[in-house]
Amino acid sequence: MKVKFWGTRGSLPSTFTSEHLQKYLKQNIAYASDPKTRIKEGQSIDDYLQTIPYDLTHTCGVNTSCIEIESGTPDEFMICDAGTGLRDLGIAYAKAGVFARPCTYHLFLTHLHWDHIQGFPFFAPAYIPGNKIIVHGYHPNIEEYFTNQMTPPCFPVPFKALGAEILFDIKMPWENFECCGFSMKAIQQNHPGISFGYRFEKEGKSIVYSTDCEHTENAHEDGYPFIEFFRDADILIFDAMYSLATASVTKVNWGHSNNFMGVKLAAKSHVKHLFLFHHEPSSDDEALRQFLLNTITYADFYHTQNKSKTKKRYPLKISLAHDGQEVEI
Ligand SMILES: [Zn+2]
Ligand SMILES: [Zn+2]
Repeated sequence: MKVKFWGTRGSLPSTFTSEHLQKYLKQNIAYASDPKTRIKEGQSIDDYLQTIPYDLTHTCGVNTSCIEIESGTPDEFMICDAGTGLRDLGIAYAKAGVFARPCTYHLFLTHLHWDHIQGFPFFAPAYIPGNKIIVHGYHPNIEEYFTNQMTPPCFPVPFKALGAEILFDIKMPWENFECCGFSMKAIQQNHPGISFGYRFEKEGKSIVYSTDCEHTENAHEDGYPFIEFFRDADILIFDAMYSLATASVTKVNWGHSNNFMGVKLAAKSHVKHLFLFHHEPSSDDEALRQFLLNTITYADFYHTQNKSKTKKRYPLKISLAHDGQEVEI
């Protein structure tokens, strides 16, 4: 089972400016100039690139929320949210030759905020006759919002001009369902206008996508429903847009959670791999990497305080989700 992140930013696409590029260049030039780590005689640049530390060659990315879960079914694709990452996903499919045949794209929507739907008008498969796109979600007015964002003066191409067959599968809040051999369930989340988290399960593996959710005081109570929803997940993709200080002082009721809350809930649910997601768009790579280190330090501390409950530290692993990243479980 594979997950690919196409967009990991929250609220707004982030920028990667010349200033950011120069920061990377500086670090890479220093690395390549060091006699201990410089390119070897006859070594290809591609081979050398593989030896450079990951953080010097990767950015956290710029796109808003969009992830893909490998369906395991030929000609069917499973995608969560239609942020700007959806555009890159469509381009990648075109390059891979997927457009040569009709396919079905399942799009699972958490909610209708702009950063989760703005990639759809740029999703190339939607323009191709023969394709089918099924938008699954729990908000009754999804079709209306998809149509409205493709109405002048916001966008020149009207929704009805799209070539693909587009269906809207609106579910009841308590409704579990199946898709491409996955058992799926959703949970209602605390967010302006309400959002929904999704849990995908197949062959004993589970992935939870839970973004745009503010966990408040009741998250510390016994029986908090998210503990069960996250239970034993192999991967938990979690809205960690803020630090604890920001979430509890300046951004209360903004509908987002923090990294420490992610650690606590993942620890209680025995999550294996926690991905910090929906990154603050104004944080650059350096700030996000420091944010990750702070999160890991806190996870170690939290485990020390709760050692009696589990021998292992849960979550076993913590990562920053970033655009283009693939994870296999
Ligand atoms: Zn969002
Ligand atoms: Zn939102």
